[in-house]
Amino acid sequence: MAKEQLECSFCGRKKPETNLLIAGLDAHICDRCIEQAHGIVIEESKQSDSSDLSAELKLRKPLQIKEFLDQYIIGQDATKRVMSVAVYNHYKRLLQPTTSDDIDIQKSNIIMVGQTGTGKTLMAKTIARMLNVPLAIVDATVLTEAGYVGEDVESILTRLLQAADYNLEKAEKGIVFIDEIDKIARKSDNPSITRDVSGEGVQQALLKLLEGTVVNVPPKGGRKHPDQKFIEVNTENILFIAGGAFDGIERIISRRLNMQAVGYSASISDDVVDQNNLLQYIIPKDLKDFGLIPEIIGRLPVLTYMDPLDAETLRAILTEPKNAIIKQYKKLFTMDNIDFSITDGALDYIVDKAVEYKLGARGLRSLCEEILTDAMFELPSSNEKKLNVTKMYAEDKLTKTTLKKLKAVS
Ligand code: ADP
Repeated sequence: MAKEQLECSFCGRKKPETNLLIAGLDAHICDRCIEQAHGIVIEESKQSDSSDLSAELKLRKPLQIKEFLDQYIIGQDATKRVMSVAVYNHYKRLLQPTTSDDIDIQKSNIIMVGQTGTGKTLMAKTIARMLNVPLAIVDATVLTEAGYVGEDVESILTRLLQAADYNLEKAEKGIVFIDEIDKIARKSDNPSITRDVSGEGVQQALLKLLEGTVVNVPPKGGRKHPDQKFIEVNTENILFIAGGAFDGIERIISRRLNMQAVGYSASISDDVVDQNNLLQYIIPKDLKDFGLIPEIIGRLPVLTYMDPLDAETLRAILTEPKNAIIKQYKKLFTMDNIDFSITDGALDYIVDKAVEYKLGARGLRSLCEEILTDAMFELPSSNEKKLNVTKMYAEDKLTKTTLKKLKAVS
């Protein structure tokens, strides 16, 4: 065959009409057909992504879900177990055949109570990552401040749609993490909360969403784009995880425990009450006493708590998780061919400072940044190919002023 007569075996274009013609064993393909085929491949993989969920879920039993969480999150065993079961049941519910008996598995939306920085967001993120579903993280306080409640609650779903690249099917199986749910508590039952009526209003507006309903969602968000077309989002299969610090709830728990201890049927009083971690005894009634309305509590049936982080946990957070902070710095330095190491003494020192200045897990990162910024600035353009951070090096970089500054922003 003469060279000019070569043609694309798919569309029949002659070689001169193409930009590129690639030869296979018995066939040729032109650039345009490659591009089209590429488009089809992408499209197909997108579709199989969403239908793969069931296959993926069948493989992951609660035990495996927990093992996955263990790779990224230190400690918090009780919550990991509860979460694993809740997530497992939630997705079992999605897979239930529609025409079986009358037993309807209810949603297992979750509420996590624990101090800030104990890993609540991380928990939601890790679950979303494991299931490969979109995740929207929203702050309940924003919902209050805007004032106009109805519209803003829908913005939660706008976020989820964006996280799903506007793939509605994916968004409808996604996860929403509502942070600072405690900030929309009613004021009357808790003196430390300043918002009142608006908080309850948001709680009311959230109810329908949590339960499962079809919502008209402005895909680009509410206010700035008034002429956009709404997208109908069904929240029935969206898993909602709420989190909050519930500052002061220990007092409510303690009061209840004391009352139980006085009463005759005390169950916990038989055991020793761990005063340092009262959250572990939390029950839904405590949330009600804090100011959540009973309907909201009812729609977040899985209640769990986060342990406060002690020095040992902070130490482990620095080095152990799959993407631990220290591992990240090591990777950054390796990209510049710099051999980075840090001594146990330096790690202990960082943890000590985080505890002393009450910086929590979030502070670990800021402390490391302070210690390593000079090196990260200087070393890439120097001949030095080794950095060993000792306690002395860390002390030298962390002055009292920087520590105070960190405390102020935390
Ligand atoms: P919260 O949502 O409870 O305020 P986050 O999940 O945002 O806390 O945690 C802040 C940071 O602290 C996370 O990015 C994570 O790096 C770290 N962290 C907190 N708790 C843990 C934990 N138990 N295991 C590993 N990392 C943690």
